[in-house]
Amino acid sequence: MKGWCSWHEGYAEDPVLVGVVEVGSGPGGSLYACRDCVEAYRLKPLSDHPEESDGSPLYEQRRS
Ligand SMILES: [Zn+2]
Repeated sequence: MKGWCSWHEGYAEDPVLVGVVEVGSGPGGSLYACRDCVEAYRLKPLSDHPEESDGSPLYEQRRS
């Protein structure tokens, strides 16, 4: 299924849900990133976020 990747701002096949934008007044939105951007920006899929996450996109910490 095609969806919008918010990182490279284009359509992509099977984007990954990486965040939820909470908007005070009005509907919130879901943030998707394509697999290439998840890889490039080390985004964490929303399903891997810790429980205390507010839904904003998280980036994997680079391990040294
Ligand atoms: Zn992308």
